[in-house]
Amino acid sequence: MEKILLVKYGEIMLKGLNRPYFESQLVKNIKRSLQKTGDFNLIKAHGRVYVEIINSSYSYEEVAEKIAQVFGVIAVAVAYKVKSDLKEIENLAVEVAKMAYQDGFRTFKVSTNRADKNFRPTSNEISIAVGGKIFHSFEDFLVDVRKPEVTIKIDIRLESYVYYQEYKGNGGMPVGSAGKGLLLLSGGIDSPVAGFMALKRGLKIETCYFHSHPYTTEQAKEKVIELARKLSMYNGGMRLHIVNFTDTQLEIYQKCPHAQLTIIMRRVMMKIAEQIAYIVNGQALITGESLGQVASQTIESLHVTNRAVDMLVLRPLIGMDKIDVIKIAESIDTYETSILPYEDCCTIFVAKHPETKPRLENILKSEESIDIDAMVKKCMSDYETVDI
Ligand code: ATP
Ligand code: MG
Repeated sequence: MEKILLVKYGEIMLKGLNRPYFESQLVKNIKRSLQKTGDFNLIKAHGRVYVEIINSSYSYEEVAEKIAQVFGVIAVAVAYKVKSDLKEIENLAVEVAKMAYQDGFRTFKVSTNRADKNFRPTSNEISIAVGGKIFHSFEDFLVDVRKPEVTIKIDIRLESYVYYQEYKGNGGMPVGSAGKGLLLLSGGIDSPVAGFMALKRGLKIETCYFHSHPYTTEQAKEKVIELARKLSMYNGGMRLHIVNFTDTQLEIYQKCPHAQLTIIMRRVMMKIAEQIAYIVNGQALITGESLGQVASQTIESLHVTNRAVDMLVLRPLIGMDKIDVIKIAESIDTYETSILPYEDCCTIFVAKHPETKPRLENILKSEESIDIDAMVKKCMSDYETVDI
């Protein structure tokens, strides 16, 4: 029996001119995700990607799980291949059913899908015939079309595939198919999740972190590096730009009203991030802001922050509850790192009573006492870039 991995992606959404572009990006990303896993043969055909393992120390199941992480993938099946001949499909289906039986399943149904609607018999007729054959090959493997423990799937294309093991994919769009963004990555819970969501929509990302040594510790920086690493598996590597923000923050602290510290600091961060994004050909900034979580994330604060830059700012978490953000953080394994107790901003830089409804003209007035252009220039002259 010839074993193969069958990769399904969002066929239906993709009719149209962009499809070949999307598909080749997907194939590229799958290849990259398998780079250190062995030798593989990838075949793109008829709305599917097929992966043959040439040489690998990983099992088909393990490789399938890896591929399922790649954005754009809906599901990966561990399948067996056969000629599109009814007799052969039936025989193979009984063999595959045997494996499912050995895995302990005791009720099943057969589900058939024909890419070529001219193929005869019809999907339903095939399912019924094959189901009958399987039923008669075992003593206690029963048909249950409503709630089967296992579904034996038959996929009829130029060649045919039979399988019962399927790994659910992450969905979304292939990373790189939507351009590039720069994620402002702090050590918190939100920004890694925002990055994950931008990646899921097909944005390739780079990351930047504002470090205020010694007010923020070396451990806080390590934590951000670790978070960037966790996102790197979706992105195919990761670049982290670390901005030395201490002097800038101190100057804002010394010269601006303390109730406005956070908002002015945030505006300067955005301006620096925008400059970095221009350099790396980024088309958007991405933040973990969500509406109304804290003083700096009221609609007024977000507006004033937004006005610091021309570039598009994406806030993937804008309408999300913290609980849902945490769920995603747990599922992508960033949560445990994010809650490590290294503060990303020393308490001296946070006012006791921050302004919650800042007005742009007041903020601009306060900013007259500092030289923001010089701050940006200074930070742009000595930031560090790490490839993870
Ligand atoms: P997070 O959980 O991502 O830290 P938060 O809920 O703590 O977010 P804020 O501290 O107000 O919210 O930060 C809002 C966003 O600003 C962050 O999600 C992140 O995108 C960006 N940001 C804040 N601090 C930094 C930093 N030191 N370096 C890079 N980006 C930052
Ligand atoms: Mg934070």
